Amino acid sequence: QKAQMAGAREERILVVVRLRPLSDKEIIANEVADWECINDNTILYRNTLREGSTFPSAYTFGTDRVFRGDCLTKQVYEEGAKEVAVSVVNGINSTIFAYGQTSSGKTYTMTGITEYTVADIFDYINRHKERAFVLKFSAIEIYNEAIRDLLSSENTQLKPRDDPERGLIVEKVIEEVLRDWNHLKELLSICEAQRKIGETSLNERSSRSHRIIRLTIESSAREFLGKENSTTLAASVNFVDLAGSEQASQSLSTEARLKEGCHINRSLLTLSTVIRKLSKGRQGHINYRDSKLTLILQPCLGGNARTAIICTLSPARSHVEQTRNTLLFACCAK
Ligand code: ADP
Ligand code: MG
Repeated sequence: QKAQMAGAREERILVVVRLRPLSDKEIIANEVADWECINDNTILYRNTLREGSTFPSAYTFGTDRVFRGDCLTKQVYEEGAKEVAVSVVNGINSTIFAYGQTSSGKTYTMTGITEYTVADIFDYINRHKERAFVLKFSAIEIYNEAIRDLLSSENTQLKPRDDPERGLIVEKVIEEVLRDWNHLKELLSICEAQRKIGETSLNERSSRSHRIIRLTIESSAREFLGKENSTTLAASVNFVDLAGSEQASQSLSTEARLKEGCHINRSLLTLSTVIRKLSKGRQGHINYRDSKLTLILQPCLGGNARTAIICTLSPARSHVEQTRNTLLFACCAK
């Protein structure tokens, strides 16, 4: 019955918006919160009287969800990601993105969602003893279009490759078989430590790089295990903590910036185009090959795959332009 419901769902891109609360630091600095969620799908800009303001006061999102500052990540997961993430146990590939400016809550949200998903997958495995499961974990970072393994201390660049049997793979990426909850925590902290290496100034690297955590689940019916007619079901779910969305708009804004050597975040720009096309019903050519991020995610974006985008927002007045850009992205992705 569940499968039927999933099949009946035409829409493949789920877009939700999460507003974070003002931080203590912002409150001390007398920041003002200009954005407010007035119901489950409307976010309101409260400062339209501001001089020169040209944008609408309320952004309403069809059926998708808007989460207020005091919502817990658990709720964002349950209502904004779970259905997409756990479809992996039924052999369906999926991708969950966190999109938003630096400091809007992408890492905070994505870490929680990754953990809740793993807990649900372990739970599913425990309840389905008739199948044998292998759950694998890998993590990469894409920085200036170079791919690095976040589970490896060697700084070698990884290469995507078309494998005749498995499709697009990242060559030599480390895949750890996930044993239990503690193992997950351990791997996540290794990734976090690896990601910090090479960061020149505060948040510099993490605001410009994309982090992809991939869980791959393989299963086969125990009664056929080791027999010739045994078939393995395999699928992946990707958790993508994107570069700060300001990286796309900043690099576009002035020619001077480009001359300063500010790298255009090609992956972020290509992703916007790909998402827009997918949301319009995936007609015509989709340019997955234009960036490393979309190339790697292609098997988990196109075709039968499910996608969720969590757009994270800062409520602060000083971030209003970026918040508006993120909301425009959210509207376009719908
Ligand atoms: P980003 O990854 O987008 O740069 P972070 O996830 O690092 O942003 O969040 C910035 C800060 O705000 C962190 O200190 C984080 O703990 C805090 N934060 C983010 N979202 C929330 C939230 N929904 N509730 C409480 N604190 C949050
Ligand atoms: Mg972050």
